[in-house]
Amino acid sequence: MPQSKGYAAHDSTSSLVPFAFTRRDPGATEIAIEVLYCGVCHSDLHMARNEWGNAIYPLVPGHEIVGRVTAAGSDVKKFKVGGIAAVGVIVDSCRHCAPCDRGEEHFCVEGATLTYAAKDRVDGSITMGGYSNNYVVDERFAHSIPSNLDMAAVAPLLCAGITTYSPLRHWNVGPGKKVGIIGLGGLGHMGLKFAHSFGAHTVQLTTSLKKKEDALKLGADEVVLSTDANAMNAHAGTFDFILDTASAPHDLDPYLALLKLDGTITLVGLPEKPPAVNIFSLITRRASIAGSMIGGMPETQEMLDYCGRHNITSSVEVIPIQKINEAFERLLKQDVKYRFVIDMSTLK
Ligand code: NAP
Ligand code: ZN
Ligand code: ZN
Repeated sequence: MPQSKGYAAHDSTSSLVPFAFTRRDPGATEIAIEVLYCGVCHSDLHMARNEWGNAIYPLVPGHEIVGRVTAAGSDVKKFKVGGIAAVGVIVDSCRHCAPCDRGEEHFCVEGATLTYAAKDRVDGSITMGGYSNNYVVDERFAHSIPSNLDMAAVAPLLCAGITTYSPLRHWNVGPGKKVGIIGLGGLGHMGLKFAHSFGAHTVQLTTSLKKKEDALKLGADEVVLSTDANAMNAHAGTFDFILDTASAPHDLDPYLALLKLDGTITLVGLPEKPPAVNIFSLITRRASIAGSMIGGMPETQEMLDYCGRHNITSSVEVIPIQKINEAFERLLKQDVKYRFVIDMSTLK
């Protein structure tokens, strides 16, 4: 492989800076790609700053990757040199446990290999993510993207898209259901688009009333300011399902009060600190608190194909790599419309 270049964090407190490293050559079932676009997920920020305690430095973030295939191993079937491939949050797994056999590689019992800051199963090196000029991945963990969609706006589907599509499908969100989406950020705006597209009555719950007009344009039937107790009370006991994408610590009780009898709130946001829960909020409506994590390879491809058929992409602000530290600061201020995507040609 040619020399790899990217942006890396070297510890939990400093900015990302240019960084050179090497990747191994692709094996028989692997492809090498030139990264064209990479989305900026809030998980990249949590990881770069070691908020979950599992960072390995130097850490090159990035797991919403769209790129051009530059090399393909002799046994590769899905991709050809010159074609487009997309890579998400995981890049390998044991490939033989029950979840892997079912195509739920993200629940691999031996642990899936993350796109960055994880031990590569092939050579034991530490994986480096998509804030870089290239990537090497097994074709099983790479996806085809619908040719009618804009490549920059597709990149966020590889994490924000599948992480919201999968739970909305799993909990049967659709016509006749009232569904809430907490947080209008990268994940939230995709959850909103999908819930609307699946035919549910979709309510955007936000702490930023200035996002109201946008939420309506993105498909919300209603928008509720979650810090306004009266506005929240007006919806008490009416939701079948709520998807919580909030990135910062927050109290679940005001949201639990919105659920109907037997309603479910599914957490996908991963704040640094876990929420405290008032058990009375659960028992009084037999409510469920659940969690969900990205999606397996077949469901990720299903989601991409669904987006192609329904013309769904992320609403993106494309940035040069040199603005990545500024983008991180803006994420913390909830100032994103609604996903930053790095144009990797700016790395040259
Ligand atoms: P993001 O773009 O920064 O959006 C997060 C949104 O959360 C904000 O825009 C804000 O929306 C809302 N929010 C922030 N603080 C809040 C608070 N105190 N109370 C209520 N809402 C609050 O982040 P993202 O990239 O969508 O990621 C969201 C979270 O999901 C992160 O923690 C990330 O690590 C996690 N994640 C999980 C998975 C998974 O597999 N489970 C996958 C990817 C990401 P408003 O301004 O509308 O309130
Ligand atoms: Zn992510
Ligand atoms: Zn497995």
